[in-house]
Amino acid sequence: MPKLYLETFGCQMNVLDSELVLSQLRGQGYEPTDDRHSADVIIYNTCSVREHAEQKVWSRLGELRERKKNEPHLVVGVIGCMAEREGTDIFRRHPHIDILCGPAELDKLPAMVHNACVTNRQSDQPRVGRQVALMGQSVRRSSTLQVARDELEMLDLSRAISPGDQMSQAYVRITRGCNKFCTYCVVPYTRGPEVHRPPGNIIEEVRKLVDSGAKEVTLLGQTINHYFFEQNGRRTTFADLLYQIHEAVPDLPRLRFVTSFPRDFTDEALQAMRDCPRICRYLHVPAQHGNNRILKLMNRGYTIEQYREFIDRARDYMPDISIASDFIVGFPTETDEEFEQCCDIIRYARFKNSFIFKYSPRPGTVAIDRFDDDVPETVKRERNNRLLDVQGEICAQNNRAMIGKTVEVMVEGESKLVSRRAKSNTGVELGAGFQRKQSVSLSTNQTQLVGRTRGDQVVVFEGDLSLKGQLLDVVITDAQQMTLFGKRVESPAELVGAS
Ligand code: SF4
Repeated sequence: MPKLYLETFGCQMNVLDSELVLSQLRGQGYEPTDDRHSADVIIYNTCSVREHAEQKVWSRLGELRERKKNEPHLVVGVIGCMAEREGTDIFRRHPHIDILCGPAELDKLPAMVHNACVTNRQSDQPRVGRQVALMGQSVRRSSTLQVARDELEMLDLSRAISPGDQMSQAYVRITRGCNKFCTYCVVPYTRGPEVHRPPGNIIEEVRKLVDSGAKEVTLLGQTINHYFFEQNGRRTTFADLLYQIHEAVPDLPRLRFVTSFPRDFTDEALQAMRDCPRICRYLHVPAQHGNNRILKLMNRGYTIEQYREFIDRARDYMPDISIASDFIVGFPTETDEEFEQCCDIIRYARFKNSFIFKYSPRPGTVAIDRFDDDVPETVKRERNNRLLDVQGEICAQNNRAMIGKTVEVMVEGESKLVSRRAKSNTGVELGAGFQRKQSVSLSTNQTQLVGRTRGDQVVVFEGDLSLKGQLLDVVITDAQQMTLFGKRVESPAELVGAS
């Protein structure tokens, strides 16, 4: 049985794509492995949004050049956004790559892997069973859009879900691609135009996941609130879809969705969130900037006043809603005054957290051709740190207000925060974007679990690892900028102000 190593970079959409690809290849007899050194087929599912993620892939591919000389049967594949963005130019830099497959063409991957394996086995000399499936620009033509929709649907429908999977959290795609063309972003070029899945297929997938043990399902789309499906004169909007899933799968405790686009978020969708108790009151709705001139250069299609209006409207419907955002600092021509308006919107919206990035020009985007990257790196770093501090103070205030409350937590596993601190008392890095170093004050003698509230707040508490995947009540006893600390509530009498 050939061994398959698949490594994923980037967003949740890539994580889901990898899961679907793995499911298909497993069905064809490939055995997944975590050890790339012993694998017969190595595939990298790539991301082009950040330069750092691309550098890692280039480095991995460089390592494989020598190995391929000694192992002629080895099959090397690059899939995802970097494959689509680089195109066949990638072969000039790395001629030992066998497979190149864009994210909109993944339904073709199993056949490509099979063909490459057969070709490479036909000789003892290093061979390259070159297989290419890229979307190019062709799929934006209306005649090919339906074909793209149908082919991609086959990939999502192929997902093997069995009752023994015991997967407590799962992603379900409802929309692929993006029509927004923000000037700094490659996604519309790599993932293609927005295509929406039939609601019946989405509901069936959620149903199967819940039957196999899922307690939390996150619906995925680049601009998820744009979901819209029309068939035989029947229209399904995003709000309709939320109501339909909520009603059709009553034993799903938590339904989430990401990522929302600030414009076009309807009152009906907010009403659905308010009216359906099992839909988590959490929105990830990137502002990207606080200044109208920069938002225009970014081609975001809204003003900061419209963004504020949306935040106000969401809070009118649900005063307890938790909202997260993204920001890019140091966009070309950004002045100090314009940057300050990013601080203003964070203070106004009091985000749960923000993912903050320094602008870097990405090949294949409009911005790299149209604007000089003229904000010095030192200034970008200062602005980045300043925005982190502003958001950090809001986070600390929001979290302190949680002390004494009881929250429902989905247990994700052992806390890395505490296990890392056990190795070093200097504090811990909490991940990408906004999260920064902070010290923690927990005893590490007991197993510390980590879970998330319905509002996506991270909670660390003591417990047994066997609780992973369960929903528990935890009373919050302490709080830091990015993390709440608590104690499991074992009996109803201990419940305090549950939220
Ligand atoms: S909305 Fe803008 S940033 Fe988001 S995926 Fe589409 S083009 Fe990229």
